[in-house]
Amino acid sequence: MYALNPAYPTIFKPLDLAGQQIENRILMGSMHTGLEDRFWNYGKLAAYFAERAKGVGPGLIITGGISPNRAGWLAPFGGTMNWPTDVLNHRRVTKAVHKEGGKICMQILHAGRYGYHPFSVSATDIQAPINRFTPKALTEEGIEDQIKAYVRSAKLAQKAGYDGVEIMGSEGYFINQFLCLRTNKRADSWGGSFENRSRLPIEIVRRTREAVGDGFIIVYRLSMMDLVEEGSTWEEVVALGQAVEVAGASIINTGIGWHEARIPTIVTSVPHAAFAGVSRKLREQVTIPVIATNRVNSPEQAERLLSEGYCDMVSMARPFLADPQFMQKAAAQKSNEINTCIACNQACLDHIFKGKKSSCLVNPRACSETTLNYKPTANSKTVAVVGAGPAGLSAATTAAERGHKVTLFEAAPEIGGQFNIAMAIPGKEDFAETLRYYQAMLEKHKVNLALDQNVSAEFLREQGFDHVVIATGVKPRAVDIPGHNHPSVLRYDEVVRERKPVGKRVAIIGAGGIGFDLAEFLLGNEPTNAEDHLEHWYREWGIDPSYSSRGGLIEPQVSTPVREITLMQRKPAPLGKGLGKTSGWVHRLQLRKHNVEMLGGVQYRLIDDQGLHISQDGEERLIEVDNVVICAGQVSVNSLYQSLNPYGKSKQVHLIGGAYLAAEVDAKRAIKEGCELAARL
Ligand code: FAD
Ligand code: NAP
Ligand code: SF4
Repeated sequence: MYALNPAYPTIFKPLDLAGQQIENRILMGSMHTGLEDRFWNYGKLAAYFAERAKGVGPGLIITGGISPNRAGWLAPFGGTMNWPTDVLNHRRVTKAVHKEGGKICMQILHAGRYGYHPFSVSATDIQAPINRFTPKALTEEGIEDQIKAYVRSAKLAQKAGYDGVEIMGSEGYFINQFLCLRTNKRADSWGGSFENRSRLPIEIVRRTREAVGDGFIIVYRLSMMDLVEEGSTWEEVVALGQAVEVAGASIINTGIGWHEARIPTIVTSVPHAAFAGVSRKLREQVTIPVIATNRVNSPEQAERLLSEGYCDMVSMARPFLADPQFMQKAAAQKSNEINTCIACNQACLDHIFKGKKSSCLVNPRACSETTLNYKPTANSKTVAVVGAGPAGLSAATTAAERGHKVTLFEAAPEIGGQFNIAMAIPGKEDFAETLRYYQAMLEKHKVNLALDQNVSAEFLREQGFDHVVIATGVKPRAVDIPGHNHPSVLRYDEVVRERKPVGKRVAIIGAGGIGFDLAEFLLGNEPTNAEDHLEHWYREWGIDPSYSSRGGLIEPQVSTPVREITLMQRKPAPLGKGLGKTSGWVHRLQLRKHNVEMLGGVQYRLIDDQGLHISQDGEERLIEVDNVVICAGQVSVNSLYQSLNPYGKSKQVHLIGGAYLAAEVDAKRAIKEGCELAARL
């Protein structure tokens, strides 16, 4: 028991749920990993959860969504719990978690019209804007079958050893589709009045409680703010919360926004704990505990929410992908050693949406616990790592953790490489946490850090290291457009890092991730104070924190940007197509809302005193601007490697990250390559 932890006294207070003692107030929220969909991956899934339950783990873990039947699948052959044989797979998970002293609930998720397959069903046959399949409208008999499937699934989960179930009633899935007028146009006793529309979740909770008895936890995930038109009113949310309490729920979890909502709810630019206020409002209306969610990623934030009465538990999901020892470090008051989730979605949700196994940008071991291991070495070697960007940092700290003697050389006066530029972009402030984490790891694993050292091949040869890892990264690509030396032309690093002055009218050449980031940076309309920032963010996205209208929506009030911006690329494709699946739309919408002109199929002709001359669709055009910012990708910095290993044959000289391949290098690949190499040394 950790009730006396002076740093986080509320986090470590136990909680009683359905007669079971939950050791602390942190819930590891449900996350689809992709491992739950195939029976042969359940061993890996068990290892993944066990690693998170080990020692001081979250008080309660929720699995990824498991469908109660075929109609409820998210995707064909998704993880289900509807046959006794399914119990055998899940028992591997519950046994592994219980062995480590943890508690785990299975989430029952029926996708309804979000099911990406031809067997999907819903209240009404209205296709979701994010799915190409149209669901079949259920008959009353069909509805009965779905309820029975939930109950059967919960009973099987109990048989498999789970401590409870979470009934997924939010994010626009099946239950939400019955609750809201948006998707429920039925005229029978399951549609029309709120009483009819809310019958489905209430029946599911009531009959589940009847079937599983009193000592089994039922978490009900309630959509507290739908963020879509014709979503629930606040009065309906309260009525539902009170009804599921009476029906037998042990605790209510918060769900925010349907997947089809065009308001971001979890990406990096969403302010921390932006939606906790709505959990607090509901907590005042029910007597069972309430869980707050969304964009909480540190013990400090969780402690604040708990101690200020926003909630009884805090759910964090992705932070446990990023650091399986999150709770252990919090308990030991070493939160500076936590590898913080930066909410990029690049290796977790974006992977899932591409049908790939989930992982984590800052922790490539996530979901590869059985294959990527950093075992202590029996043969400690001297290792030089050159370059302290994400690739070099991950290689150096992992090699040192394994027991090698590592020196990390960095030409700049600080660590971080390009991440120092990334973290200066509005909405990417959390990226600084990754560098804080690496700084702590360098100290913990006693890496000899040599800053301001632009090392040469001769120096490295003289030192006689057993291994040399070249992680010298990238530099911005220069363009050969006539007039590229004009004084109005700036590189992105000059704008962001060196803060060179930029005029009111700007053209950005290159519309990759960095071009988009630069456009957001140059909008220049973000307040700096945290409270003003949250209010500003609500207004910009049209969120009504006072909840006076359906779905929590109001008319957005978009602020005027400081600059007029034109963003361009040569490809004729729509701009931003290559951005992340789950975050790209936010960037595109953000720029559209602020009148950023986006041009594809452009040819750059000349930069002169008038501005940028281009041609597009055979038409010549002058874009009158004060500055042209170049974001035309990067090239590798790898001359050191070529000097040390000209034929690429040496097994002692290694090349990783952007220095290895600049095309499409991102921090996900850079960190993964660093960790994988260090695991092999
Ligand atoms: P770098 O970060 O370039 O680091 C290389 C380091 O080596 C530098 O610190 C350099 O000083 C040092 N060095 C070079 N030569 C020597 C030498 N001879 N001796 C000693 N030291 C040397 N990626 C994402 O995944 N997601 C994002 O959202 C994202 N956003 C970004 C936003 C911006 C504005 C920018 C600029 C980049 C962004 N990136 C993002 C890209 C990401 O930062 C890079 O892909 C990543 O930093 C590459 O890592 P690296 O270690 O290979 O190289
Ligand atoms: P990028 O995504 O490759 O984009 C480079 C841009 O420059 C493209 O728009 C390209 O479009 C243009 N370009 C290339 N060569 C050019 C030339 N010679 N002249 C003019 N234009 C040229 O690279 P990046 O934007 O520099 O990003 C680097 C990495 O960081 C990427 O891997 C990216 O994923 C990552 N990143 C990710 C995010 C994120 O939010 N996930 C944010 C920032 C960066 P055309 O060739 O069509 O002109
Ligand atoms: Fe967080 Fe990004 Fe890792 Fe996902 S990939 S868990 S969002 S840091």
